[in-house]
Amino acid sequence: MNTRSVNTLSIDAGRLLGRLQELGRIGHDEQGRLARVAATDADKAGRDRLVGWMKEAGLEIAVDRIGNVFGIWAGAADPRPVMVGSHIDTVVNAGIYDGTYGVLAGLAVIETLQAAGFVPRRPIVVVAFTNEEGARYAPDMMGSLVYAGGLGVEEALATVGTDGSVLGEELARIGYAGDREPGFLKPHAYVELHIEQGPILEQVGLPIGAVETLQGISWQRVTIKGTANHAGTTPMSMRRDAGQAAARVMTFLRDHVTRSHAQSVATVGCLRLEPDVINVIPSRATFTVDLRDPDESRLRDAEAALARFLDELSVEEQVRISVERLARFEPVLFDEALVERIEEAASRRGLPSRRMTSGAGHDAQMIARIAPSAMIFVPSHQGISHNPREHTEPQDLAAGADVLLDVVMQLCAAT
Ligand SMILES: [Zn+2]
Repeated sequence: MNTRSVNTLSIDAGRLLGRLQELGRIGHDEQGRLARVAATDADKAGRDRLVGWMKEAGLEIAVDRIGNVFGIWAGAADPRPVMVGSHIDTVVNAGIYDGTYGVLAGLAVIETLQAAGFVPRRPIVVVAFTNEEGARYAPDMMGSLVYAGGLGVEEALATVGTDGSVLGEELARIGYAGDREPGFLKPHAYVELHIEQGPILEQVGLPIGAVETLQGISWQRVTIKGTANHAGTTPMSMRRDAGQAAARVMTFLRDHVTRSHAQSVATVGCLRLEPDVINVIPSRATFTVDLRDPDESRLRDAEAALARFLDELSVEEQVRISVERLARFEPVLFDEALVERIEEAASRRGLPSRRMTSGAGHDAQMIARIAPSAMIFVPSHQGISHNPREHTEPQDLAAGADVLLDVVMQLCAAT
């Protein structure tokens, strides 16, 4: 096959869109919400449909012990496959594109290459990772984390869900407790195509994002203890007001990240005051701090700046402050050569792109531990996700899949 005919290949957009709609109709709860939550009957129905399509494409099906599903187009000499995919589990009341798009587009890539008579030098594998959302079992991105060796499979299978169920038992019940050891395929590269789930691409009017980093996350819980007292009789200068101190932390965080860098974000999402009474000075404030940044040193700086501020604050406001760390993930730097391939593939198709940071977690961040990995983003209308109003324009869905196609072709041709 010569280069010219390869370059004119495109995925079958109609079939991809049809399958997205079809999978989107599978797994609704009694309230009519899409809820293909990991290892439920709804998840099984979605998996069965996906496996059916994989079999129709002549792919070898493999399931590993954590329930990750692989459709393998084997037969090439080099055993290390090019892996594409994402997840098909959802949150409750989900949209139809999150995760599913990357899996079905991966399948479309294989079908397109098969139909064109393309002979890949490496196997091409499309994967659907188990429990990316973490809606029933924590942690999220579990299937890819286990696959990358970041969490033991026995420990993961013993996870007890929000409904008291045990993941291993549920996977067995729905017929997806496989026998392959997680990590059984060592990818040559992993590329995940995903909707952005944020507003940036739509805002700047670009169809493709080449994701080069995934931001680090720092979660802390701060508790401030002051003294409850009468709101009318206590002079301002004599207060030990935990609520006032919490408010100062919130404005400090916003000012600090706004000053330091455009990509830094800080959020206080939970705040509780006690005794929570209109005419009583709060004796206690408990709140969470969510700090994110694509750069580890900046994230550390933000954590350190917060710690210094809390020290000063405890003196100034005469309150006691304690901090508890809830979660911490370092930023992920995706493979530079792979990110360049994505940019070049987009450009050859006349699709303008820009480099991006992922604000959300994805399976690619786990697989990046064991293989060169990167992600392709397409626009999300109004940045809405984890919601039935999640939407990406059909031409954007097709464009992203075509870029994935070109990148996979290159990776399967290169030595
Ligand atoms: Zn996702």
